[in-house]
Amino acid sequence: MSSGSGSLMWFRKGLRIHDNPALEHASKASNFLYPVFVIDPHYMKPDPTALSPGSSKAGLNRIRFLLQSLVDLDLSLKKLGSRLLVLKGDPSEVIVRCLKEWDVKKLCFEYDTEPYYQALDVKVKGFASAAGIEVFSPVSHTLFNPAEIIQKNGGRPPLSYQSFVKLAGEPSWISTPLSMTLSSLPPVGNVANCEVSEVPTVEELGYEEAQQGEFSPFRGGESEALKRLRQSIEKKEWVANFEKPKGDPSAFLKPATTVLSPYLKFGCLSSRYFYTCLQDVQKNVKRHTLPPVSLAGQLLWREFFYTVAFGTPNFDQMRGNKICKQIPWNDDDKLLAAWREARTGYPWIDAIMTQLRKWGWMHHLARHSVACFLTRGDLFVHWEKGRDVFERLLIDSDWAINNGNWLWLSCSSFFYQYNRIYSPISFGKKYDPNGDYIRQFLPVLKDMPKEYIYEPWTAPLSIQNKAKCIIGRDYPKPVVYHDSASKECKKKMAEAYALNRKLTSSVSEEDLINLR
Ligand code: FAD
Repeated sequence: MSSGSGSLMWFRKGLRIHDNPALEHASKASNFLYPVFVIDPHYMKPDPTALSPGSSKAGLNRIRFLLQSLVDLDLSLKKLGSRLLVLKGDPSEVIVRCLKEWDVKKLCFEYDTEPYYQALDVKVKGFASAAGIEVFSPVSHTLFNPAEIIQKNGGRPPLSYQSFVKLAGEPSWISTPLSMTLSSLPPVGNVANCEVSEVPTVEELGYEEAQQGEFSPFRGGESEALKRLRQSIEKKEWVANFEKPKGDPSAFLKPATTVLSPYLKFGCLSSRYFYTCLQDVQKNVKRHTLPPVSLAGQLLWREFFYTVAFGTPNFDQMRGNKICKQIPWNDDDKLLAAWREARTGYPWIDAIMTQLRKWGWMHHLARHSVACFLTRGDLFVHWEKGRDVFERLLIDSDWAINNGNWLWLSCSSFFYQYNRIYSPISFGKKYDPNGDYIRQFLPVLKDMPKEYIYEPWTAPLSIQNKAKCIIGRDYPKPVVYHDSASKECKKKMAEAYALNRKLTSSVSEEDLINLR
């Protein structure tokens, strides 16, 4: 049992100093503070079979973003008289070892609703309480406590955005962020018997640096998050008029949205601070847009998915997931590979998938396009396979939001209008008739005239020759023909929906999946 008054601050997400209740509590009335981050092999193991570097769980761009965020956190801690202690191994084992070896009376960490972290936390909390160590684990990754919303709804998560917003209540119910400034932190205590290091580089973690051009333009860390937030909120009219469905998914020089998602994912930015800044802007303008389309409304989408994910067993899979329609998706690995590797022959789709691999971020409607294309729109491949690709390559990859949106886009849950399909040709053309986005991410098509850039297989051979891009040689032919493929998909969806209606009566989940 511990005798001193040291605190261990276990950073997982929440990689920030500002509005960090766990850090604040850890630093109060403590002689020593141990700010710890554990490099978890679950996310780090390099995957030699993957097309681009990184582990099977996290691509290089996200790992780099994480390490940048840790370097930034370490710098901020150093300014406050502390530093980040980096350890490696299974996080629950490492934390238990630190609690055994170091002089710790308080263990503080942000509450996490993801099943992976819930399981870790049970182990760590079990040890701490048996050892008489105080545990403080506040909800600060989200605006609301998902458990409270579920309780208010009679024990079930709300399944529509509107019902979520009703339960969540008035925006004024969101508590005020903590003061933005911390003047100092207690010194780091004696770190005997545990191997502590500085923040490693990607190479030290066993990764090779990316090929040229695979660098995400977004740099990790709290400093960058706050800078980016300031840049967004100082455009008061832009914030006031923000309407998500009207943004241009093809804008790459200046994205149409904030690109704060990776910072929210790692908690480099407090969602509560972000929300409060938006409310301040709204108070000072005559008129502003409202949820669900407003910028504040986007943060409520995040809350919605966190709440449903927390309250739905097997949320990340089709089987055993009560809110997910059982659909006999195919297992076509060739089609999946063509989609993943940007070889579908549809330049709009392939450009988005290339942006995903190179940047780790794409606009929301671009994500809609490729998710619809892979699943109910064209290829009829299982949403879980697409989810895995996004999970690995997105820098903002987030368990609740990623799964929630794949369920939505595949018409497996939340949204059921499977007849509304994004055209892989006309949707992008509406925003970017010249095809600049395609030319940026698929340079092989850079000289294709704009008349053909969305359907290069229709260009006469003479034009293909002039553009130095022969379809079938330099750029693939379409893997499916959209008109017939989408018709077939709609038919299969109609059949699956009809069978799902019978699910409650005679057909079992197993029967539904096996019906192909
Ligand atoms: P902004 O429009 O500036 O919105 C501000 C914040 O609101 C975002 O940073 C995000 O935290 C939240 N937000 C916005 N849209 C949504 C939404 N639809 N659902 C939940 N929260 C939202 N977002 C992730 O953060 N991680 C993911 O893993 C992820 N996977 C997705 C998978 C699919 C198939 C789709 C269609 C969408 C996914 N999204 C995901 C949601 C959305 O596309 C991104 O949050 C958004 O594009 C991020 O850009 P931004 O920060 O500029 O958003």
